[in-house]
Amino acid sequence: MELRNIHENRNIIEKVVEGSIADELEIEPGDVLVSINGSNVKDIIDYKFLISDEYIEVEIEKKDGEIWELEIEKEFDEDLGIEFTNPLIDKARSCRNKCIFCFIDQLPPNMRETLYFKDDDSRLSFLQGNFVTLTNMTDEEIDRIIAYRLSPINVSVHTTNPDLRVKMLNNKNAGKIFPILKRFKEANLTVNCQIVLVPRVNDGKELERTLEDLSSLYPSVKSVAVVPVGVTKYREKLYKLKPFNKEESKEVLSLIEREQNKFLEHMGTRFVFASDEFYAMTNKKLPSYEAYEGFTQLENGVGLMKSFEYEVDMELEKLGNNVELNKKYIIATGTLAKDFMDRIKDKTMKKIRNLNLNVIAIENDFFGRTITVSGLITGQDIISQLEGLKNVDGIIIPKSMLRKDSDVFLDDLTIKDIENRLMVKIIPVEVSGKKFINLFRKS
Ligand code: SF4
Repeated sequence: MELRNIHENRNIIEKVVEGSIADELEIEPGDVLVSINGSNVKDIIDYKFLISDEYIEVEIEKKDGEIWELEIEKEFDEDLGIEFTNPLIDKARSCRNKCIFCFIDQLPPNMRETLYFKDDDSRLSFLQGNFVTLTNMTDEEIDRIIAYRLSPINVSVHTTNPDLRVKMLNNKNAGKIFPILKRFKEANLTVNCQIVLVPRVNDGKELERTLEDLSSLYPSVKSVAVVPVGVTKYREKLYKLKPFNKEESKEVLSLIEREQNKFLEHMGTRFVFASDEFYAMTNKKLPSYEAYEGFTQLENGVGLMKSFEYEVDMELEKLGNNVELNKKYIIATGTLAKDFMDRIKDKTMKKIRNLNLNVIAIENDFFGRTITVSGLITGQDIISQLEGLKNVDGIIIPKSMLRKDSDVFLDDLTIKDIENRLMVKIIPVEVSGKKFINLFRKS
């Protein structure tokens, strides 16, 4: 019983993929993975490492307590097809930094407790693509990443200047990032980097230096995304910083474009990419589709607008010329994407007769009006700013306004709550041009 309890905290199987090795062996949800090749499975990294073989011995404890010893022959890289109740198998590791720009420190009080959890767990980087600072890792743990060849890894670098990184992350261990990345390069691991840019802290000359250092690690360091710091109205007693204004954003873009041209000439890749926010803030024309080189940093908001518009154009072209839809929709967006969505609206309405779209930019009163992205708009701001709407067939919102795989906004209001208040249907749509145009096909 005691043994079972230990397992219940750790590697209980939650899901078995249909047709997988585990499915064929009749492993079921609720079973416990006890060991692989006689070794306990400490965490997801161990698991991935231990199953990477053509022959493995797996011990499973069935729900009734029976122990199965299974001998499995498989392709080297083939997965067993099981998912665990706790995807990490172990507890998520929290961060040891106190970054001057941390968004979690700027959250309003009384939000859902899980939102205040600061994770900085390299295992989540491999599993879910989270960006990690690597400041809470021992040398042994770095060795393990290298030995297990875990890659790609997403790293929040911010700066390669050791003193500045210590200051920005408020962590005396933060200065060692470059030597760690160098070790990853020697081991041929792939790394994608992120820089949260803070005006007058790590921009200008410091940004140039960081890009220069990181480019020396190419192709191991594959790409760098530069995103502007987000500043909410809850910064009392925190480091004094301000968001980028239009002029400063223009300077950032010229610096990045200059560096891109240099890298393109010497390395054959633009290597560094500015997030969409910089383009939206300056009303500067977005780079071409090709200039995003495969959109490796979409999660960082790099190229989302371009890929969305590209898909919209493709889908509109496929629609043909005789399309009509007698409907009226509101598109709710953050203030940053207003002009962009107006452009999308215009081309869509031009193609689909009688379709009436109206883009409304929602000001972010919940976090403060300096927050302009759609993904941080809350239900209460939608209600207060769209109350009284009449004669519309629905309000289209990007799914990024909702918590992952749910219908809940950041302030815990649900789609139903908003529909009940506004008496209008809410239509969440993925940030995909194809899905957006599909809305008007299906209606
Ligand atoms: S690493 Fe920095 S920004 Fe990320 S959660 Fe920790 S303190 Fe916040």
